[in-house]
Amino acid sequence: MAIVLGAIADDFTGATDLANNLVRGGMRCVQLIGVPEHGLAGVIDDSDAVDAVVIALKSRSCPVGEAVRDSMHALEWLREAGARQFFFKYCSTFDSSAEGNIGPVSDTLLQRLEAPFTVMVPAFPVNGRTVYQGHLFVGDRLLNESGMQHHPLTPMRDADLVRVLARQSEHPVGLLAWHELQRGAQAARSRLDALASRGMRQVICDTLTEADLDVLAEAVADLPLVTGGSGLGQALPAQYRRLGWLAKVAEAGALEPASGGALVLSGSCSRATLAQVGAFLEHHPGFRLDPLALADGEDHLEEALTFARARLAVGEPVLIYASAAAERVRRFQEALGRDHAGELVEQALGWLAVALVDEGVGRLVVAGGESSGAVVSALGVRAMRIGEQIDPGVPWTQATLAGRKAPLSLALKSGNFGGEDFFLRAFDILPTVDDSGGGA
Ligand code: ADP
Repeated sequence: MAIVLGAIADDFTGATDLANNLVRGGMRCVQLIGVPEHGLAGVIDDSDAVDAVVIALKSRSCPVGEAVRDSMHALEWLREAGARQFFFKYCSTFDSSAEGNIGPVSDTLLQRLEAPFTVMVPAFPVNGRTVYQGHLFVGDRLLNESGMQHHPLTPMRDADLVRVLARQSEHPVGLLAWHELQRGAQAARSRLDALASRGMRQVICDTLTEADLDVLAEAVADLPLVTGGSGLGQALPAQYRRLGWLAKVAEAGALEPASGGALVLSGSCSRATLAQVGAFLEHHPGFRLDPLALADGEDHLEEALTFARARLAVGEPVLIYASAAAERVRRFQEALGRDHAGELVEQALGWLAVALVDEGVGRLVVAGGESSGAVVSALGVRAMRIGEQIDPGVPWTQATLAGRKAPLSLALKSGNFGGEDFFLRAFDILPTVDDSGGGA
């Protein structure tokens, strides 16, 4: 079997964001965590029913050499899987350090694919990310005034992406300006070809509207490599259908009916998550994890487990949370050290996930990017089929686990995503085998 699109994402939640948009565009999609040892058929059961694979790396802020090596490894795997087009996915705010990693990774991917050039399309207008004359805006602010200039790992102090990328790249960087895009896909493509013939291997593309993304997608759908944010991912599937590469699928995000108990593990202290925890607690009790008690030994985890068992036994959803407002978090961090406090919480969430999935939980929501990483790694999840979106950027997914007959339904929510009722609505919209929640 062969897939249409093979994507390499520079972080985990970015990978899910792209995968979610590909599903919304009509592609059946699987997200892999890291590069697997085996080919696609060895990684998921129904590998014939996959149109796109997104490999999630951790290559956004690691050293350049590592990012290039991991991305090349992912590319080789996706080539082996037969992908027709490759997509290098980064953040819509073009998060990178002065020396990379976006420039060096895309340069190396181009070389390996023997492709003359690629486009850089970070924009996602519905989320307020637009590019004009090569300058990236977040809402009505230039990137370097949007708050991103203070980012702890990848501060963005220059909104001129042509200049940013030129500092990271061995080749001159081109610009496809908005007025050129307005002449339509064919004219845009001629312009891109002309820039390439002048030695420009990477071209920043202006994008102000969703319609601009459609024109760009039409202009670049047959390139070996495209790069950008998840917005471009939403526009590409229609072009693959136009080229005859992709059949129409009735429900690209169809998953098997879920089964088993419902659990929310929350390690995010972001504002949206705190509101979601509060909304859940208005309807059901929850168990609050105390990092100081976690540091004291296993009794606290046993208490959490006992609480969860009692709720699951009567078919009620369970919430276990470490989420706390800034003042409370600061107290724990002062007492335990910032990293140690975080580690204790992440380890606890991972341990509880393993124990409770083993006891029959089959529908699991995790809040927090790092928290999700800890849970997924404790459970040994390597591949997730992407389902319907719960809220923008957060889909239900399904993973096959060793020792569990039915797939595990997983929703991994990065801190600030999702509406206030996210935790309960997630379970409400998920079709299950039966209303009693059995069948795991
Ligand atoms: P987000 O997506 O909101 O940034 P993350 O899970 O990525 O959430 O990060 C939250 C971090 O805060 C995790 O490392 C988690 O272990 C830690 N944490 C959660 N609750 C507490 C707490 N009560 N005290 C200290 N650290 C906490």
